Amino acid sequence: MSTKMSAACIFCKIIKGEIPCFKLFESDKTLAFLDINPLSKGHALVIPKHHGEKLTDIPDDQLGEILPVVKRLAAATGAKDWNLLQNNGKLAHQEVGHVHFHMIPKPNEKEGLGVGWPMQ
Ligand code: 5GP
Repeated sequence: MSTKMSAACIFCKIIKGEIPCFKLFESDKTLAFLDINPLSKGHALVIPKHHGEKLTDIPDDQLGEILPVVKRLAAATGAKDWNLLQNNGKLAHQEVGHVHFHMIPKPNEKEGLGVGWPMQ
């Protein structure tokens, strides 16, 4: 199946390189990049390249890398604790209409993030 894209979608524009991002991971199906308005240092977004507003709009075969990438990014931050968040629909506070998973590190109050985080 070909990857569905939306010309008006801000995350599809990031996938196409029309809007810059701080890229963390990319494959043919998946992209991860830093959130432009981070809730903590290292707040990352992991998205399927296939365009769809809600999780139920994305074919299963486009989702298989998402959790492994989340795990790798979380480990790279050095944070012991972190949130994985996915908002579905306006009532659930979804602002960007392209499925995305937030990986939000929780820095230790005394030590901050671990030494492994190489990103901004
Ligand atoms: P939502 O509320 O839809 O779950 O979260 C959307 C997220 O996308 C927000 O955390 C917001 O900061 C992020 N975001 C919106 N526009 C851009 C952008 O152009 N670039 C990046 N890197 N993040 C964005």
